[in-house]
Amino acid sequence: MSEATLPTLSVVVPVYNEEAVLPLLVERLRPVLDGMHAGYEVVAVDDGSFDGTPRVLAGLARLWPQLRIVRLRRNSGHQAALAAGLYAAFGQYMVSLDADLQDPPEVIPQMLALARADGLDIVSGVRSDRTADTLFKRWTAGLYYHAMRRMVGRSVPAQAGDFRLLSRATVEALRALPEPAPVFRLLVPWIGFPSGEVSYVREQRAAGRTKYPLSKMVRLAADSVISFSAAPLRLATLLGLVGFVVCVLLVLSGLIAYISGTVVPGWTSLFLAILFIGATQLLCLGLVGEYVARIFAAVQGRPAYFVASDSAQRGYLSADDPGTPEDRAAEDRAPEDPRTHEDRMADQASG
Ligand code: UDP
Ligand code: MG
Repeated sequence: MSEATLPTLSVVVPVYNEEAVLPLLVERLRPVLDGMHAGYEVVAVDDGSFDGTPRVLAGLARLWPQLRIVRLRRNSGHQAALAAGLYAAFGQYMVSLDADLQDPPEVIPQMLALARADGLDIVSGVRSDRTADTLFKRWTAGLYYHAMRRMVGRSVPAQAGDFRLLSRATVEALRALPEPAPVFRLLVPWIGFPSGEVSYVREQRAAGRTKYPLSKMVRLAADSVISFSAAPLRLATLLGLVGFVVCVLLVLSGLIAYISGTVVPGWTSLFLAILFIGATQLLCLGLVGEYVARIFAAVQGRPAYFVASDSAQRGYLSADDPGTPEDRAAEDRAPEDPRTHEDRMADQASG
């Protein structure tokens, strides 16, 4: 694709089992993007959905030529889907947006205007009001951001999720890093390109249910801590030091008791000491294991996701790779558009 036909903006939307919310998203996103009078594409990354999402997306794309569908082979997680979309997008600027309308699309033009006016590479959406979230979510998120700011630095916005604008240069820089699917909300501030913020009010999920159960939240928090800090490993050293001091005191008191002839029957103290030492050793071993597991994964170098199909590259699948049944069903239902994605982009740029 030549420079002239590159869209100004790519909106990347990870989508996992969001059949209920997609029509609502298009209803709100499209007028905003059409009203910007700039070339754009919307990259919907279908993260291995198993509900009606592929069908709904194919139907929507028929009516909206700028909607591009990238389908992953299997569910790879929010951050991996985001990586897939960002690295496939053609835009000079890229905005990542959740599918559930918690991030209001109306803020996108403000982000682009700010980036252009101040020459910024990063514009983060910062939640000025989280009352739409549950108390539990707000509390855990508060704790998470506090910890992350201490570890990564003050450059991490206190309440920024994955609603942000990135310049192409930023995305290329992220892509050049060896992490296959980084925790974007930390790595983006970490690379430290010129950045700004736009505040917005976090809305309720428009339809469907959260795809972030507690287990995924814990995973994200663990990935965040471990990819940025060796502090948990030092916990073992700290516990060891404390244990040593306690041990010296106990040895002294034991000797004094022995010499003075007041030895007590020691079942409880022995029992507790053994349990305590066993538990802390296992805890520390587990922490070391978390790091070793990540080193192992990095050495294996397996990709975080596999792209099954990309509607911008029709014919991408080879003849002996017919895609998933859902892909084929979705393709069958969608009438063939003989124009390539480039043609459509060119039409849009000239129109
Ligand atoms: N998502 C995804 N893959 C997953 C989980 C979530 O692509 O494995 C998408 C989801 O469709 C949504 C976004 O990530 O567009 C954020 O998820 P969700 O709104 O469920 O998270 P929450 O707002 O509850 O934290
Ligand atoms: Mg959400």
